[in-house]
Amino acid sequence: TSSHLMVQTPKNIAIIGSGLVGSLLAIYLRKQGHSITVFDRRPDIRTVEFSGRSINLAMSNRGWRSLRKVGLEETIKEIAIPMDKRAMHVVDKPMYFQSYGKEGEAIWSISRGILNRKMIDLAEQAGTVFQFNEKVWDVNLPEAKIYTGESEKSEWKEYEFDMIFGCDGAFSRVRHKMQRRSRFDYSQDFIDVGYKELTIPPNADGTHKLDKNSFHIWPRGNFMLIALPNLDGSFTCTLFLPFEGEVSFDNITTEKEAKQFFKTYFPNVRKEIEDLTGDFFRNPTSAMVTMKCYPWTYWNKVALVGDSAHAIVPFYGQGMNAGFEDIFVLNEQIEKFGDDWDAIFEHYQKLRKPNADAIAELSYRNFVEMSSKTADPKFLLQKKIEKRFTERHPEKWIPVYSRVTFSDRPYSEALEIGDRQEAIMKNIMQTPNIEENWDSLEVEEQILSYL
Ligand code: FAD
Repeated sequence: TSSHLMVQTPKNIAIIGSGLVGSLLAIYLRKQGHSITVFDRRPDIRTVEFSGRSINLAMSNRGWRSLRKVGLEETIKEIAIPMDKRAMHVVDKPMYFQSYGKEGEAIWSISRGILNRKMIDLAEQAGTVFQFNEKVWDVNLPEAKIYTGESEKSEWKEYEFDMIFGCDGAFSRVRHKMQRRSRFDYSQDFIDVGYKELTIPPNADGTHKLDKNSFHIWPRGNFMLIALPNLDGSFTCTLFLPFEGEVSFDNITTEKEAKQFFKTYFPNVRKEIEDLTGDFFRNPTSAMVTMKCYPWTYWNKVALVGDSAHAIVPFYGQGMNAGFEDIFVLNEQIEKFGDDWDAIFEHYQKLRKPNADAIAELSYRNFVEMSSKTADPKFLLQKKIEKRFTERHPEKWIPVYSRVTFSDRPYSEALEIGDRQEAIMKNIMQTPNIEENWDSLEVEEQILSYL
C-alpha cells in the first residue's frame, strides 16, 4: 500500500437514520467496500406521499463539495434551483435585491423530500441495504449491537455489527445511550421562536409567482417570513414567530386572527399564499434547538454524524451542509489512517467539534441579529460601511457570510475572523459624525489601518 492510499478491510456497518446525512454516508462507505445496512424508523420515503408540500433547504459550497467527492454534484444540481440574491420585502419600500456574493456565487434551493428520495436511490444503487420501519430502541456501545422493535415494551430484534454510525438526527437514540456514560458533555437550548410552513402555489401555467432565483425575505423585527422556490413553480414559506408575547403564535388561534396578522404585517404576500388559514392551522408549529455534545465517538465502535452530533438553529442555512462536511472530513481521515478506526474516530471528532461549535454560534447570532438588530439604524449603517469596504477591497475584507457559505475554510476560522472584523467595526462606529462621513476616504483608511 502507498502511504496515502491505505487499504480498508471491509467491515459490516450499521447506519442509524436514512436522512440526508445517513444516506450520503452510506454512499461514501460503500465506495470503500464496506457492507452497509441503514435502519430507519420511518417507512421508505420513496413510497409515501409527501404530507403537505415539500420543505426545502439551501445547499451551499460545503454540501456541494461533499457531493462532488462521490461524483454526485451534477446529478443533485438537476433537482436544485440557484438563488444568487436575497429579495428583500421591507415595509414601506419597493422590493429590492441583495446579491449573495460575487458574480456566479449562489445558494441552491432543494426540496428535502426530493433530495432524500434521490439519495436513498443512489445509496441503494451503490449496494446499501435499507431496513425501513425499524426503530432502534437501544444500543450496546462496546459490542456494536442494536436493538429494534415495534415499541419500547415489545420484543426486540438484536443485530450485531463491527461498527455503528448514529445519523438519527437531533433527538438521536444512539447519542442518548452515550449520554448515560460518565464524562459525556451534553446541552440543549431551545429558542423562544417557532416556525410554521406555508405555501405559495404556482401560477396556472406552472410558473413561479415571485422571482424564482431569489431567497425571499420579509423581515419584521422579531419575526419574519421567508420563501424558497420549488421546481414545480411553488414556493415554500416559513414563518418564524415567537411562541409567546404580543405578536406570537400564542395569539393567533382563530382564522380571523391569522388573516388579520397577515393583513397587518405581510399585506403583499397574503394573496399569494392562497390557502393561508388552511396552511396555518393544518401545519404544525415547530420548535428549534441548539444541541451540543462531546465526545462524538465510542472507542472504534460508534460515531455520531450530522444533527445527532450537533443540531443548530437554521438561521445560517448550514445544518445539512455541516453534516455533509462531517462526512467529507471523516472520509479524509479514513483515507489517511486506513484500518485504524481508533485514529479515524479520534481525528474526526477533534477536527469537527470546534467547527460544529462555531457554526452553532454563528447560526445563533444570526437569529439574534435578524430578530433584534435589523431595525437598528446604527447596525444598518455598520453593514453599509462594511459592504462598501468589501466592494472596494474584496481581497481585504471577505464577509463572514461568504466565509461560511462560499468557502471550504473551517467554520471556526470564519467565526474568529468575523469577531476581529466586528471589533474593528466597533471602533469605526465610534468615529464622530460617522452618520455623515460613513463613505469618506478617512473611514476607509481607518479600516485599512486596522488590517
Ligand atoms: P435528520 O434529517 O433528522 O434524519 C434523521 C433520520 O433518522 C430520520 O430519517 C429519522 O426517521 C431517523 N431516526 C431517528 N431516530 C431513529 C431511531 N431511533 N431509529 C431509526 N431511525 C431513526 N440545513 C441546511 O444545510 N440548509 C438549510 O437551509 C436548512 N434549513 C433548515 C430549516 C429548518 C426549519 C430546519 C428545522 C432545519 C434546516 N436545516 C438546514 C438543517 C437540516 O434540516 C438538518 O441539518 C439535516 O436534515 C440533518 O440531517 P440528518 O440526516 O443528520 O438528520
